[in-house]
Amino acid sequence: MHPKNSEIIMENINTIIAGQQQFFNTNSTKNISFRKTQLKLLLDTIRKNEKILTDAAWLDLRKSSFETYSTELGLIYGEIKEAIKKVKRWAKPKKVRTNIPNLPGSSFVYPEPYGNALVIGAWNYPYLLTLGPVIGAMAAGNTIILKPSEIAPACSAVLTKILNDAFDAKYLRVIEGGVPVVQDLLSRKFDYIFFTGSTRVGKIVYKAAAEHLTPVSLELGGKSPCIVDKDAALKVAAKRIVWGKFINAGQTCIAPDYLLVHEKVKDKLLNHIKHYITSMYGKNPRKSPDFLRIANHSNFERLESLIIADKIYFGGETAGKELYIAPTILDNITWQDKVMEDEIFGPILPVLTFDDFFEAINDLKKRPKPLALYYFGTNKGRQKMILNEVSFGGGTINDTIMHISNPALPFGGVGNSGIGNYHSIHGFNTFSHHKSVMKRATWIDIPIKYPPYNLDKLDLIKKVL
Ligand code: NAD
Repeated sequence: MHPKNSEIIMENINTIIAGQQQFFNTNSTKNISFRKTQLKLLLDTIRKNEKILTDAAWLDLRKSSFETYSTELGLIYGEIKEAIKKVKRWAKPKKVRTNIPNLPGSSFVYPEPYGNALVIGAWNYPYLLTLGPVIGAMAAGNTIILKPSEIAPACSAVLTKILNDAFDAKYLRVIEGGVPVVQDLLSRKFDYIFFTGSTRVGKIVYKAAAEHLTPVSLELGGKSPCIVDKDAALKVAAKRIVWGKFINAGQTCIAPDYLLVHEKVKDKLLNHIKHYITSMYGKNPRKSPDFLRIANHSNFERLESLIIADKIYFGGETAGKELYIAPTILDNITWQDKVMEDEIFGPILPVLTFDDFFEAINDLKKRPKPLALYYFGTNKGRQKMILNEVSFGGGTINDTIMHISNPALPFGGVGNSGIGNYHSIHGFNTFSHHKSVMKRATWIDIPIKYPPYNLDKLDLIKKVL
C-alpha cells in the first residue's frame, strides 16, 4: 500500500474509533428500541440491495443466486427478525437464586454490551460471516467496526457501500483492506474482537488481543471428518456428502474435509457419490451454473498440487484461467499423503477406510479437534460413542452441514478450530458481558463475617457454608 494511503486510512480509523467510543458512552446503544431500529435498518438495507449483493457474489465466486440466498441472505434475514423479536427478552436482567448466607438479598445477571467491537469476516460466505456476527453485536448493544475479507473484493465493496451509506459511522462502520489494515486494527484497543478465518491467522489475532486483554471469538477451520459406517443408508449418505462437500466448491469451513468409510461399503458408496456428482452438476461441472470457482490463484495452485494423478477416482480436471477445479474424489489415501496435512478448503474429497470402528475413533481422538464431524450410520451405540468420545465444534448425524442452519444450536469450534460460538441468542451472549450484581438489605447485618474472629464464629461459618 502507498504510504500516503495507509496514513489516510489510519487517520480515518483513529477518528472512527474515537467517534464510536464517544457514541457508546452516550448509552444510546443500550436502549432496546435503538437496537431494534438499527436491526430493522440492517434488514431493509440488505433487502433493498439484494440484487447487487447477489451479483457481487457471482462476480467474486461465481456463486448462484440460489446459493447466495439459501446459504447467506435467507439465514441473515431469519437471524435479524429473530433478534428484533427477542432482543428485549435477551437483554433483560435475569434474577437468580440467592444463597442462604446472603439473605436477605437478591441476585441478578445483567447482560451489558462490551463497547466497541471489531468483526473480521471471511470471504467464502462473504455476507453470512460478516453480517452474522454483526447481528449479535448489534443486538447486544455494541458499536461495530466490520472488516470484510479482501479476497472477495466485489462483495467487500458492496457491503462497504450499502452499510456505510445507511449507518452512522459512530455506530457501524465498514473498513475495507487487506493484511496491513487488519494488522493496524489489531494494534488498537477494542472491547471485543470476533474473527473468522484460518487457525494460522487466528493465533495472530489472539496474540494481538492479549496485549489489551480483549476478549475474542475465533471462528477457525480444520479437517472435519465424515465417517460412513457399514450400516449407513448409503444412497442418501452419498447424496448428502456430495451436497455438503461441493456446495461453494468445497470452500466451506464445515465441509466434510475427508471421507472415512468402512471398507466393506466403500465401493458402493463411491459409486453412489459418482452418480450424485453427475446428477447435481452434470457430465461437465465446468458448464454448470451451480458449481463455483476457486476464490483466487494462490488457493487454486494450492488445491491443484493436492491432486495426485494416480489416486484420482473421479474428476481431477482443472482450468487455471477460470480458477476451475472439478469435483474430485481421491481414493486409496493415507495420512501420509499431502492432501491430509492441512484443511483442504476446496472441491477435493480424499477417501480413507477403516475396518475397526474403535481403532478409527481412537485415531480421531489423537488429531486436532475439528470444527465439524459427520457420522453416517444407524447404530445408536456407535453414534453415542462418537458423541461421547470425540471432541469437535458441532456436527450432524446422517447428514452434512445442516447443524449450522438451526439457530438454536450455538455455532463455533473447539481447540484448534476456535474459541466461542454465536447465532441467535448465542451471538447476543457472545457480545455481552454478563455482569453479576447482588443487592443486599440494610435492616439487618449479621456480624459473623467481621473480625475479631473466634472459634464460635468459625463453627458457625462451617455450618452455614
Ligand atoms: P485467513 O485467515 O487467511 O484470512 C482471514 C483474514 O485475516 C483476512 O481478512 C486477512 O486480511 C487477514 N490476514 C491474513 N493474514 C494476516 C496476517 N498475517 N496478519 C493479520 N491479518 C491477516 O482465512 P481465509 O483464507 O480468508 O479463510 C479460510 C479459513 O477460514 C479456513 O481455514 C476456513 O476453515 C476458515 N473459516 C472458518 C469459518 C468458521 O465459521 N469457523 C468460516 C469461514 C472460514
